[in-house]
Amino acid sequence: MVNIIQDFIPVGANNRPGYAMTPLYITVHNTANTAVGADAAAHARYLKNPDTTTSWHFTVDDTEIYQHLPLNENGWHAGDGNGSGNRASIGIEICENADGDFAKATANAQWLIKTLMAEHNISLANVVPHKYWSGKECPRKLLDTWDSFKAGIGGGGSQTYVVKQGDTLTSIARAFGVTVAQLQEWNNIEDPNLIRVGQVLIVSAPSAAEKPELYPLPDGIIQLTTPYTSGEHVFQVQRALAALYFYPDKGAVNNGIDGVYGPKTADAVARFQSVNGLTADGIYGPATKEKIAAQLS
Ligand SMILES: [Zn+2]
Repeated sequence: MVNIIQDFIPVGANNRPGYAMTPLYITVHNTANTAVGADAAAHARYLKNPDTTTSWHFTVDDTEIYQHLPLNENGWHAGDGNGSGNRASIGIEICENADGDFAKATANAQWLIKTLMAEHNISLANVVPHKYWSGKECPRKLLDTWDSFKAGIGGGGSQTYVVKQGDTLTSIARAFGVTVAQLQEWNNIEDPNLIRVGQVLIVSAPSAAEKPELYPLPDGIIQLTTPYTSGEHVFQVQRALAALYFYPDKGAVNNGIDGVYGPKTADAVARFQSVNGLTADGIYGPATKEKIAAQLS
């Protein structure tokens, strides 16, 4: 239980758009601000600066949580324009200020997420990194250990363990009756000699429910039409292709992930098809879906 301080961005500010929102997702960020004093209170002040154009719902540090927006209003934090990241997700920034305890801030965020999941009936599968929406390398300190971060939220069934001074992967494996290879696999650890004190490790087999489909793909056929087809199903195709480095428009805003099946998205589909032995017609259909899914699994 961490104290939540409500300190809302003023109504009418340009970073408080006020679009009605029903939260379906929780999006996790890192502040990428390591300055001394860049804690939750500092970010609350930053968000109330009239020049600030971005916004999110909570900032979490090692001792407290600030809430900046009501949860039935959207913020601008996901980088996906009017997609579900901005319009249907609760944005949470985790502080990484040099004078804070990042492991504690992360644990506080996990507690907050668990609370929000229960209050808003959001599944663990819908707790996503900022990267999911726009490809941005955020939350930069958690992406490498995203599965264990999610396991630490709880509610999934996997047992977790926090690494202590003097632990080795071998000693932890022995303590939990599993193998070093299993620990490496569950936690994406390449070098078994590299674990950090404070790191949260999954120490029992993740249940199927805990391995959410990060990139769900739509059924059916999507192709260039007049007017262009748009919607969440197009976002899904674009996000999945971007995860495989086939961006609709690399370098453009959001790398062209805009939920619209225009010529550039059709071209990304065609490029993917041509290197995967499919007819490069730029039409998304069952065969293309299957190849994309296979590469993402
Ligand atoms: Zn972010």
